[in-house]
Amino acid sequence: MKTMLKYVQNNVALIVTFLLLTIINTGCSGDQPLIENGESQYKIFVSESAIPSEKYAARELQKYLNEITEFKLPIVNTYDSKTKLIYIGFADAPKELLAGLNKEAFGNEEFIIRIVEGSLLIAGGKSRGTLYGVLGFLSDLGCRWYTREVIEIPQKNTIYLPAEEVREKPAFEYRETWYKEAYDTEWAVHNRLNPSTVPIPDSLGGSYISYPFVHTFYRLVSPDKYFANHPEYFSMVDGERKGHEAQLCLTNPEVVKISIQTVFNWIEEHPEASVFSVDQNDGYGYCECEECKKLDDAEGSHSGTLINFVNQIADTVAKIYPDIKLQTLAYVYTEVPPKTLRPADNVTIRMCHYNYCSAHPIGECSSHIPFVERLEAWDKISKRITIWDYFTDYARYLLPYPNFERMVNDVRFYAENGCVGLFAQGSNVYDNGGGELGELRAWVFAQLMWNPWQDGWELIDEFVENVYGPSAPYIREYIEMMHNQVKPDSVYFTIFAEPTDGGYLTPEVVQKAEALFTKAEETAVDNPALLKRVELAHLPILYSRLYFYSTGGRVFLSKEEMPEVLRKFERIIAENKISSMAEGKEIGDISAFIERIKSAPNFISDWWIIGPFDNSNENGLSTIYPPENEFEVNKTYEGNESQKVKWKSYHNQESGYIDLTKIFHPSENGVVYASRNFKMDEDKSVKIGVGSNDGVRMWLNGKLVLDHKVLRKAEPNQEILTLPFKKGDNTVLIKIDQFGGGWGFYFSLLD
Ligand SMILES: [Zn+2]
Ligand SMILES: [Zn+2]
Repeated sequence: MKTMLKYVQNNVALIVTFLLLTIINTGCSGDQPLIENGESQYKIFVSESAIPSEKYAARELQKYLNEITEFKLPIVNTYDSKTKLIYIGFADAPKELLAGLNKEAFGNEEFIIRIVEGSLLIAGGKSRGTLYGVLGFLSDLGCRWYTREVIEIPQKNTIYLPAEEVREKPAFEYRETWYKEAYDTEWAVHNRLNPSTVPIPDSLGGSYISYPFVHTFYRLVSPDKYFANHPEYFSMVDGERKGHEAQLCLTNPEVVKISIQTVFNWIEEHPEASVFSVDQNDGYGYCECEECKKLDDAEGSHSGTLINFVNQIADTVAKIYPDIKLQTLAYVYTEVPPKTLRPADNVTIRMCHYNYCSAHPIGECSSHIPFVERLEAWDKISKRITIWDYFTDYARYLLPYPNFERMVNDVRFYAENGCVGLFAQGSNVYDNGGGELGELRAWVFAQLMWNPWQDGWELIDEFVENVYGPSAPYIREYIEMMHNQVKPDSVYFTIFAEPTDGGYLTPEVVQKAEALFTKAEETAVDNPALLKRVELAHLPILYSRLYFYSTGGRVFLSKEEMPEVLRKFERIIAENKISSMAEGKEIGDISAFIERIKSAPNFISDWWIIGPFDNSNENGLSTIYPPENEFEVNKTYEGNESQKVKWKSYHNQESGYIDLTKIFHPSENGVVYASRNFKMDEDKSVKIGVGSNDGVRMWLNGKLVLDHKVLRKAEPNQEILTLPFKKGDNTVLIKIDQFGGGWGFYFSLLD
């Protein structure tokens, strides 16, 4: 056992150290020390002719070996036969070190670490193989770049030459993830990511750049420029050519010609990019003209016209730029591969994994089966597949989102299925704080994208232990508890999860989580930098409590506790400069969320409920069923599909939301009534709020006061009405219709 010191640097250069015990393997390369008792005869050699990233690699090696041992190896660019050297890069390395090596065969991220008679070679392909070799060497010594602030450098007097030769390259040629940490160039370089959207400069190794990033049809053929005179270049949708929010007419030869010209311009203007995107716009709007339809019908998928189009561009590009690749999407309406067409060899298919279960990994949950079948089908006909996968709750970045099992397993799944790249989309905006446990996710993804055969749970453990220090046990327990909540097969939530989806956020779990974070924060109280990290990890639980409070779930947060929890939430948001809670202006607006909490109304969540009644012609909302004329608790009526239905009493104590999917099956697509009595001491105008999923009708004392046929997600107070209640008994009757998915309503008294 040896002692390691960990440096925690924050932006005011404050250095906090704390002790950590770690087992160090001292059995490496036995007897050949590189630095011994803080001294060394070695020098770092890097040739004058080395590329900038190799010179940077030499400086990094010098810097970190110095931090580890407090001995600074000189960097030289000449040598004599007597000096002991670490050769950085292949340039000017002596023959004995290169024996049997074909330098040209090294991929641009591939490296070798080799020892010959006491000399060490760390070298790799251009443009960043050598740098990655140095970072791998430092990583083997125990150096870690967990977050921008938590960098761990082991402290040792003596380090040895590696025991064995290593030759290594990453599992994926493209590795990018969208969490806040990963937007930081320093962090991304040290964790060996090669992002396209925040490219790493060539002097630091460069990136895998695809230009433009995605959704490029209107950049290939601009509607602004062409639509007025050539509507035929654009999609025919429902019999009309459409120059916005749609696609291109891919069988039009002029469209192909213009697109080829655009791609050639891009290649000229963007020498930094090696991949060019020829891919559909977001959404639908594929062309239904006769030619396009004929080809798509024959190929059994809209990918027919797409691949036919992309291949024509790819063939032309290949003749002049054999190293350039094109990239296109298998997404929304092009997910199914074509029957007979094959993507050209220089075309990468970028498959998107969305709208499946986020609780369980791909191989272990039937929800993913259609995706797996399509991936296999594309794999049969395509040389190159990269994956675009989604790992955050896009409806609510701050919600606890226990998809850890997907994180730790699915990167490996993609590698084992021959995918050449992975974009793990996190919470999108640069400065949003990264969403739930964003730093942890960024680091674990980066490690697994390099080597997906590592144990992902061990990586999570390592991160938690080192980043949360003495508070780690509580955070580990929190992660484990959340993970256990979503293990059962029955749990299902997607990338647009609502707080009640999957049912994992029960009052008990939220209370237990709150207790764990309280302990974690108490433990960190004397270490401001650590406390800040723990509080950021706590934020999703604070968010959940406030969210449930705003929808009537006082069991999650009482009226008395609310102001303090809200103050803390606002402080953590401000300290971490979190600007958005979701993709989309309205849904991501933090101040609107805070306003909803402050003005949370008095929800009424105990009702008599009856249904479902028939809605098969989608006019159930306006069809009069017996409950509109009478309230007989013991009477039985004929409901949907001849089932016998009766009034039943329902009380949701956890929320103001009357979730009809918990009472009826969501697929019943009927209409349901809810009724309740309100007793008044006097005649009174009462302001009430109603929210519904989907359409709603409402009566007060038999008189229709609200009629809104609509498809929507329920939020409190979507409709606000002032209604005349009378002294004594008043009956409110609500009717809600269903068209699949969520089904329910809110009713609140606003005065
Ligand atoms: Zn067409
Ligand atoms: Zn599942």
